[in-house]
Amino acid sequence: MPAQRALITGVGGQDGTYLAEALLADGVEVHAIDTAPTPIPHLPDDVTVHALDLRDVDAVRTLVLELAPAQLYNLAAISSVARSWDQPDLTSAVNGTAAVALMESAWRCQEKHGDPVSFVQASSAEIFGVTTTTPQSESTALAPVNPYGAAKAYGHLMARVYRGRGLATSSLILYNHESPRRPTGFVTRKITSTVAAIRQGRAESLVLGNLDARRDWGWAPDYVEAMRAAARTETPGDFVVATGVSHSVADFVAAAFRHAGIDDWAAFVRTDPEFVRPADAHELVGDATLARDVLGWRPTVGFDDLVRRMVEHDLAQ
Ligand code: GDP
Repeated sequence: MPAQRALITGVGGQDGTYLAEALLADGVEVHAIDTAPTPIPHLPDDVTVHALDLRDVDAVRTLVLELAPAQLYNLAAISSVARSWDQPDLTSAVNGTAAVALMESAWRCQEKHGDPVSFVQASSAEIFGVTTTTPQSESTALAPVNPYGAAKAYGHLMARVYRGRGLATSSLILYNHESPRRPTGFVTRKITSTVAAIRQGRAESLVLGNLDARRDWGWAPDYVEAMRAAARTETPGDFVVATGVSHSVADFVAAAFRHAGIDDWAAFVRTDPEFVRPADAHELVGDATLARDVLGWRPTVGFDDLVRRMVEHDLAQ
């Protein structure tokens, strides 16, 4: 018999595949919900995938009540801020309303079976948007500036509501976290994959938007460890998950070229308004003291190591 059963929504994303691997290694029976076509890259065969859209509340609720998972990780989202500007209504439905419906399903499951359900909500630093507080913590006021951040803020507030109602809900305020599994729609992987292509003569230039934005970039598998710790804790809550160090997009570009053996990178990079957003948080950097004290969580990979790992992976492709 497996030690426990977990359900992961949005398993086809970067975090979902790392989380599934980690849970399976612990002997947990892993079920997942995703709309992605199968087979899902990097997803272990032992994961049972249920092809459902999170917005199909009745079908998802039936599944949750049947499976009665001990841990429920809500990673399903329109995960790109850039895309949320094109599809704000879809972003509200998936990142906001459907997340709340899932919390309700978990709560009903707990009521029906009498067994506690740990609910982990993947929230985001984007809920802080244009804050002037640096670094941000769990008590920083919410100030989202894009449809993605606003929908995540709703999910974050409702996680608090369900925690008050008796569901062990943790909302993890995840800062940018990256890996070779990050899609190229995100700036880090766009940079590392293009730098590798330039190094190998397959591309001539790297075209970006706002080079001055500062983000707190960490290693995705570390952030998955925070999710697992949150599912186990006796004291669920809101937790900032971040490295505490920010760098600009330009810093990331410089480091990526350096790891590819190119020092004089300026000639390869230009900006285009196409990639500049209607509004962009200037600096997001988190204070993860509470996650360290309560969850025992610490990041293990620093900025330069993160960039090197991603560049080396893309050079090897
Ligand atoms: P986000 O923080 O979740 O939106 O993650 P992204 O990796 O998409 O963006 C991080 C930062 O990089 C934001 O401030 C973007 O405005 C900035 N950025 C600059 N150029 C680009 C680009 O070409 N693509 C993307 N995705 N972001 C860019």
